[in-house]
Amino acid sequence: MPPASRTPSQHLIFDADDTLWENNVYFERAIEEFLDFLDHSSLTRREARVVLDEIERANAGIHGYGSRAFARNLRMCYERLAERRLDENDLRAVMAFGERILAQAIEPIAGVPETLAVLAERHDLTLLTKGHAEEQRRKIDDSGLAGYFRHAEIVAEKDVAAYRALVTDLRLDSGRAWMIGNSPKSDINPALAAGLHAVFIPHAATWRLEHAEIVGAETPGRLLTLERFSALLEHF
Ligand SMILES: [Mg+2]
Repeated sequence: MPPASRTPSQHLIFDADDTLWENNVYFERAIEEFLDFLDHSSLTRREARVVLDEIERANAGIHGYGSRAFARNLRMCYERLAERRLDENDLRAVMAFGERILAQAIEPIAGVPETLAVLAERHDLTLLTKGHAEEQRRKIDDSGLAGYFRHAEIVAEKDVAAYRALVTDLRLDSGRAWMIGNSPKSDINPALAAGLHAVFIPHAATWRLEHAEIVGAETPGRLLTLERFSALLEHF
């Protein structure tokens, strides 16, 4: 008998990018193309990447996330580092590395559709993603997974306030609520700080700016770490 048949119904809140479907691999690929194009004579790829990270970190609070914001960040990085005269064609080429991600088909992570189908029978599922509203909505629609969720929420930033608002708006019992995701910074730490439980499912390609030390998981049972999405079925 699966353990979930003995577990009362829980509120399971899912991150989307790099938890339900691939996302950051496309950005990493675009950055590699950008670094090839930049072809800097003295900065190493790693050093040029640090400059891009700084630009992304600074702009996330102003322009938010998503492919268009990323394309603008690439352009800004190119403007700062290019060793040749800035030319409109080159700037367009640089932005295209980022904008191409908008046309990327959604690739669910292994085991996700089957696992959600079972969990949706047992529990109350919510999707919580951050980013550009229209872009995230398109991904949710294209994923074919929307039907498993009672509610899908797109926010600008997944901070403690966003989790508290979700708990209030959906009248969730936080003692039975779990945030499930790949990002310590956006999924795990703020959810724990808001009084929820959390399930950390690391992804090898998690964006560098989402890395953080996990804090707030001292109480036994507050945090689960799983290797695979399908392992959720052993716990819920
Ligand atoms: Mg994620």
